Amino acid sequence: MDCRVKPGALTKVVSLKPLVLIDFAEFPRRVGAVRTQIEAAARVAGRDPATVKLQPVTKNHPAEAAAFAARVGLDSVGENRVQEAAGKRAQCPEPVRWELIGHLQSNKAKLAVETFDRIQSVDSVKLAGLLDRAAGSLGKVLPVLLQINAGRDPAKFGAEPADAPALLEAALAAPHLRPEGLMTIAPLSDDPAVAVRTFENLRSIRDDLAARFGRPLPELSMGMSGDFPAAIAAGSTLVRIGTALYGARDA
Ligand SMILES: *Cc1c(COP(=O)(O)O)cnc(C)c1O
Repeated sequence: MDCRVKPGALTKVVSLKPLVLIDFAEFPRRVGAVRTQIEAAARVAGRDPATVKLQPVTKNHPAEAAAFAARVGLDSVGENRVQEAAGKRAQCPEPVRWELIGHLQSNKAKLAVETFDRIQSVDSVKLAGLLDRAAGSLGKVLPVLLQINAGRDPAKFGAEPADAPALLEAALAAPHLRPEGLMTIAPLSDDPAVAVRTFENLRSIRDDLAARFGRPLPELSMGMSGDFPAAIAAGSTLVRIGTALYGARDA
């Protein structure tokens, strides 16, 4: 594998204790098991399983986790910290797209635009402006998703649903951003109905915005290891899966 990680190097980049990844022999089996569940959920919802993409979430795992993904034909990975992803991307020449799924601080906007192929966590007009400027200075057009706090979770980032139209308006007006859809994270809850409501709400916010602005906004990034079947039932096109593929993170 090209980006085999030396534990010392990883500690420096990630500043977490290096975790032991599952064996590569196990990884394709886990991918197969998750894909089977994705297909089942899609069929129950009367959807074509090919319309739901699996995005492995490699945060807190060594760079090698992205190489695992590439080797089974998964073409993107999700990361939640800019510096961690920048270090891993430099170590891992495998052809995968790197996407930011975690909160982005203003002072890291430039490094984020340099590091990521898409940013799913655009949650304010101010951040959209900073990303647009950074993308412009790098001569690129950055695909983005707007993160919406569709579960109205006080513990989660994301724009309030009421602010979504203004946020989309700003992103559409930014010459170096390309808004492709919406992203959300369901609140942690023992009640599965909470996730269902959150995902249905995101879908309905998307449908309203698409109609109002005359843009399709096709990507609905929603669903994680614990709740992806419900997200698929509500229309998810991208499920972000960490634990079910790579095992537990202890951070
Ligand atoms: C960590 C994370 C995931 C993956 O979570 P799992 O429960 O490990 O599948 C998905 N989305 C976001 C935004 C995350 O931060």
